[in-house]
Amino acid sequence: MKLPFIIIIDDDTQVLRAIQRDVRNKFREEYKILAVESAVEALEAVKELKLKNETVALFISDQRMPDMEGTVFLDKAKDIFPDAKKVLLTAYSDIEAAIKAINTLRLDYYLLKPWSPPEEKLYPVIADLLDDWQNSFTPEFEGIKVIGYQWSPLSHKIKDFLTGNLIPYKWLDVEVNKETSESLAIHKIESDQLPAVLFEDGTLLKCPTELEIAERVGLKSTASQELYDVVIIGAGPAGLAAAVYGGTEGLRTLMIEKKAPGGQAGTSSRIENYLGFPSGLSGADLTRRALTQAQRFGVELLSPCAVIDIKTKDNYKILSLSTGPEIKTHTVVISTGVDYRTLDVKGINELTGAGVYYGSATAEVHSCKGKNVFIVGGGNSAGQAAMYLSGFAKNVFIVIRKGSLDSTMSRYLIDQINLTNNISLITNSVVAEVIGNNKLESVTIKNNETGEQKTNEAGALFIFIGARPVTDWIKLNIFKDSKGFIETGRDLFKSEVFKKIWKLDRDPYPLETCIPGIFSAGDVRAGAMNRVASAVGEGAMTIKLVHEYLTEV
Ligand SMILES: Cc1cc2nc3c(=O)[nH]c(=O)nc-3n(C[C@H](O)[C@H](O)[C@H](O)COP(=O)(O)OP(=O)(O)OC[C@H]3O[C@@H](n4cnc5c(N)ncnc54)[C@H](O)[C@@H]3O)c2cc1C
Repeated sequence: MKLPFIIIIDDDTQVLRAIQRDVRNKFREEYKILAVESAVEALEAVKELKLKNETVALFISDQRMPDMEGTVFLDKAKDIFPDAKKVLLTAYSDIEAAIKAINTLRLDYYLLKPWSPPEEKLYPVIADLLDDWQNSFTPEFEGIKVIGYQWSPLSHKIKDFLTGNLIPYKWLDVEVNKETSESLAIHKIESDQLPAVLFEDGTLLKCPTELEIAERVGLKSTASQELYDVVIIGAGPAGLAAAVYGGTEGLRTLMIEKKAPGGQAGTSSRIENYLGFPSGLSGADLTRRALTQAQRFGVELLSPCAVIDIKTKDNYKILSLSTGPEIKTHTVVISTGVDYRTLDVKGINELTGAGVYYGSATAEVHSCKGKNVFIVGGGNSAGQAAMYLSGFAKNVFIVIRKGSLDSTMSRYLIDQINLTNNISLITNSVVAEVIGNNKLESVTIKNNETGEQKTNEAGALFIFIGARPVTDWIKLNIFKDSKGFIETGRDLFKSEVFKKIWKLDRDPYPLETCIPGIFSAGDVRAGAMNRVASAVGEGAMTIKLVHEYLTEV
């Protein structure tokens, strides 16, 4: 934690040095001591400290100064650091002003000059005031702060990005948190420049892109080497597992992630069926562990950065990226997973990010406190979100087309939902319309059996309605099934064309695509099991196959 400041102001250099020396002798271990000769300069310094997210515990100011009286200075300083203790350094003749200040500006103490011996006249008073300050002081949040409007889609995007990348931040809603007006004024931020991201060193970005934030927080978007043994595209469970094994096997391994490591699993509030974690673990926790493990073994990560094309040249694969120059590699693992299908109903485009969210509930959960929230979908991800949100929302309604969850959700989740009082199921129904002016206000639910429609007040709508493979970006002729999932291994023989294009005198390896040296793992692969454990297993397996391929080239 940063040390708080004690600020001393006196225009008399000798007095200033003397009190600075005495205060420093006793308190320098726990406080930084700043001594200034002019009140005007001191005020500038105080503003600067505020900008840098520093804290002031105590002001000790002389009363008689040419540029500003001590009481005037303390009054101004109080507006910037309202909780700091205030001591006026006075001559006997100024006692009246000091007593008046106790009432008007809640002066904490007036100290008569001279204060010697300090052990008797100075230290007990200061120690007592600092103790008092420590007891009531709540340390400022020291990390990144995001200031914006709750219902702004850009605010949601930034929060989602920081959450996904496991970067702690404090969210400040301008309409709720009073402290934001002070920050906006100090940093000269207009309301049309929100959301703003304030960093620990006092600098800020207004309406930033994800890339701008990534650069500031030290995420990398350009590779360090010319050539890699394996490049893994997508850092979900499959990619992370491949990365850990690639690293441990000593391969030059690069992992590239479009949005945030963890993939779909990273957005899960609790994964209960992953081997070795009997009480479950959150997706964020799993991601943090896996990333640490991969980086410990020297794996490089570029994020956020999307691979937008793959080409082959001789035995090399050349990857084009959304940021930075092309990358050359011997092998590729495509583990780009799946993305949510979008819900096509009236009003939804305008309100996406402003009360309507696809997938992840974690970044917006606090805005659901005490409200009715709706979840569309009957799969495990919808079930997990319902359980998680039930701890915050007044009521959670799960809207499903079918008559029950039995065929789409795991039994353990159905049991948990049945035991949770504030979760209700709306069966045989669909969302017909979402309504709101700048933010979601209500949703209209239509019962498919009766045709009846009902509009309900809604704080948020979370959509989990199945997924499509993230393969649109691949221009190379990698065989996919009719839904766009990547074909691998023996499944490739189903195609007559494959037999014509496969020129090696061996069969493709189990997770190899129709292009030698390009593998695929996890949910993006045709026939995948759509589970964390299976994605991890496939990711690990690809590295064994990468090794075999590398011995051939
Ligand atoms: C909310 C939720 C809860 C779940 N709970 C469970 C559970 O409890 N148990 C369980 O077993 N399974 C669960 N699942 C399923 C499980 O999360 C998935 O099966 C698993 O995440 C698949 O991993 P993957 O690595 O194949 O793909 P994904 O997790 O989809 O990861 C793919 C990654 O690739 C990135 N990417 C995509 N395109 C590009 C590109 N062009 N360039 C770079 N990067 C790219 C994406 O941004 C993403 O991070 C859950 C899923 C969800 C959504």
